[in-house]
Amino acid sequence: MYRVGAKTFYIETLGCAKNAVDSQKAAQGLIQDGLIATDDISKADVVVVNTCAFIDAAREESINTTLELSATKKDSAKLVVTGCMAQRYEDELKSSLSEIDAVVGFSQEANIASQIFEPITLKSKPKGVRDLLDMPRPKPESPWAYLKVAEGCNRNCAFCAIPTFRGKQRSRTKQSIFTEAKMLVENGVKEIVLVAQDIAWYGRDMEEGNTLSDIMRDIDRLKVDGLETQRLVYIYPSELKGDLLETMMTLDTSIPYFDLSLQHAHPDLLRKMKRPGSSEKFLDLIGNIRKEKPEAAFRSNFIVGFPGETEEHMQELSSFIEQAKLLWTGFFPYSHEKDTLAYAYTNQVDSELAGQRTRELSRIQDNITQQLLLGSIGSKQKVMVDSRENGVARARSFESAPEIDGIVLVEDPDSKLGKSDVIDIEITEVSGVDRNAKISLS
Ligand code: SF4
Repeated sequence: MYRVGAKTFYIETLGCAKNAVDSQKAAQGLIQDGLIATDDISKADVVVVNTCAFIDAAREESINTTLELSATKKDSAKLVVTGCMAQRYEDELKSSLSEIDAVVGFSQEANIASQIFEPITLKSKPKGVRDLLDMPRPKPESPWAYLKVAEGCNRNCAFCAIPTFRGKQRSRTKQSIFTEAKMLVENGVKEIVLVAQDIAWYGRDMEEGNTLSDIMRDIDRLKVDGLETQRLVYIYPSELKGDLLETMMTLDTSIPYFDLSLQHAHPDLLRKMKRPGSSEKFLDLIGNIRKEKPEAAFRSNFIVGFPGETEEHMQELSSFIEQAKLLWTGFFPYSHEKDTLAYAYTNQVDSELAGQRTRELSRIQDNITQQLLLGSIGSKQKVMVDSRENGVARARSFESAPEIDGIVLVEDPDSKLGKSDVIDIEITEVSGVDRNAKISLS
């Protein structure tokens, strides 16, 4: 515990779901050290920016947010930068941004207070080494929660620098994951979203007998305590087979939502990316799942303009998109990242051309998504209410992961619905990527 008086902290989180979990655990570290969380940055004594460094755009957003928060916070507040930018660019941040009081890398993210307050304010030092992965977290406020099962990545995708600064994979024990899942469910969470850099690799850095399916089966037991669903995000496509696929298809709490990290569809380009697969293999996988679960919802993400991408590669990707009919998709122009294999590749694609291809693919996909959503008008679905405001409940069915996919807006003029209610609805219309619905009485 730090004797820092009644000091408060505010955390701004950028980037992916993994960062969101880290922020919650960093918050718990600050709380354990005697600070109090606040949502009001103007009152905070410590302002933490948990940054993302995945690609250029993410780094720019991280810097801009840091500068904005620096201008908004009170003068005496300490400004702390943590997360991927802090880990990857510690020296550059320290030398170029005088506004920052501390740059805190991953190893100290659970101990932010120790990085900004003098030892004299210590009442007692934190006991043992705090590992962010296994830190407890504050009680959840929403009916869903991300649960991080591992940190780091053992792959070497040619476009990705994450393994260079997140390190090799470290999986949590099944017990530690189950304890956290139980705490979440006992505090009202009805949907658990399992996350990691490469979720299907879970357990391979441990002794035999620790698999993602084991974790899912453990978590499935929490249905007696109120858990409705568990969801996996960012699955490496060649891993979706055998026991994992069987588990995803059969567990009571598992849902037919498949977030496949495909990245491209042309086999030659995929090999250059150091990734598996081809248009044909991906279509087979998706088709086989649809045979068993016609209602299955698919999401994926693709890199456009990877070095050496020709018109032929682009056409293959475009044709795959048209055939696969995925519900949700993200297209990202290739980002030329230092510390990656592709940094040295020749045949870089002109950024304007990459942008043009990205827009073209997005146009095709937007049309597919729109058709699929329009086709659902009149259908009945079970949804969970995430929040409610102005007579409308914001809800999701199994088809939508939180914070990323389109949602269902349910009319609720009589304020019958509350957060975490699970209800039957009927889709009435489509509005962009969202859908409007009414409560179904039948
Ligand atoms: S699986 Fe590939 S893209 Fe994902 S974090 Fe690992 S190296 Fe990066």
